[in-house]
Amino acid sequence: MASIVKHVFASPVDLLKKATASSRREDAITRLVAGLRSKATAKGCSAGVDYPPYDPRIFAELLGASKTRPADLSVGGRIVFEGDKMAVEYKRGSGSTERSRFTIAHEVAHLALWEVEKNLVPDAKPRRARSQVVERLCDEIATELLAPREEIIGNWKAFSASALSTGKSPDSLQMIQHLAEEFAISLQMAAIRFVEICKPRAGVGLLDLEKKVFVWCHFVPGRYGLLEYLLQQHGDYKRLLEVKSDTGKARIFSGSATYPLLKQEGRVPAEWRTLSFNPNLCLVIVKPRFVFDRQR
Ligand SMILES: [Zn+2]
Repeated sequence: MASIVKHVFASPVDLLKKATASSRREDAITRLVAGLRSKATAKGCSAGVDYPPYDPRIFAELLGASKTRPADLSVGGRIVFEGDKMAVEYKRGSGSTERSRFTIAHEVAHLALWEVEKNLVPDAKPRRARSQVVERLCDEIATELLAPREEIIGNWKAFSASALSTGKSPDSLQMIQHLAEEFAISLQMAAIRFVEICKPRAGVGLLDLEKKVFVWCHFVPGRYGLLEYLLQQHGDYKRLLEVKSDTGKARIFSGSATYPLLKQEGRVPAEWRTLSFNPNLCLVIVKPRFVFDRQR
C-alpha cells in the first residue's frame, strides 16, 4: 500500500525515470520517445516515424487519440474526451505549421505520460492537471519527438566532416537553417536545439533588420548582454559607446541602434547571415557564454 501511495504522489519526472529505467532525465525522455517510435514502426508506420520530418499526429493516434484537428481555442492545444474516445485539438490559425506541429507533439507528450502513469499505477486515475513541471517535461518530450538529440548530433557530425574535408570550418548558422528544414521545426527551435546539444557554451539570437529589434535570443544574459557583445565584437567599441550614450538608453535596450550604427560604419559582420526566406531576418551566433563574464 505504501508503495502505491508513493507512486501516486511521485513527480512525473520520477515516474518517467522509473518507467524507462533511467537515472537521468534526458535519458528517460530519449527512451520514452524511442519506445513510441518502435511501437509505431511495429504497427507498420514508416513515413513520419522512421525518418524526418516526424509526424506527431501518428503518435497521437498510437496513444489513443483517434482525431487530431484544429479548433477555436484560447490555449495552444488540449486533449478532449468524447465518450471513450480522445481527440487532440490545436489552436486554429496559431501561425505557422511548425507551431501547430509542436503543439500537437506537446499534447502527444501528455498522452504518453498518462500511459506511463497508468502502467506503473494501474489503479490510479491519470492526472490531468497541468502543472509547470508537467508542462516543461512535455515541451522536452515534444522537442525530442520532433528533433531527436541523436539525430541532431548525427547531422552536425556529417555536416562538420563534409565542411572540414573541403578545408572549411563548419558553419553553425547554415546548420541551424538546415535543421529547421530537415525536421520541419521553427528556426527558433532549431537554434535552441543546436546550441544546447552541439555548442553548449554559445548563445544565439535573431535580429529583424527592418524593424531593428531582436526577435529573440537564447543563452545570453539578456538582450543588453547580446548587444554589448555584438558591439564589442564588431564595432569600434569606444566610439560606438559614445554614440550609444547620445542615442539614449531606451533605444539601446531594444537593440534598435546596433545595426544602423554598424551598417553606417561598413561593419556589418559577414557571419551575420540573413535568411533566404526573409532577408530582413538575420541570425547570429554568439561565441561562448563565458565571454560576457570574462569581459565584465
Ligand atoms: Zn501541456
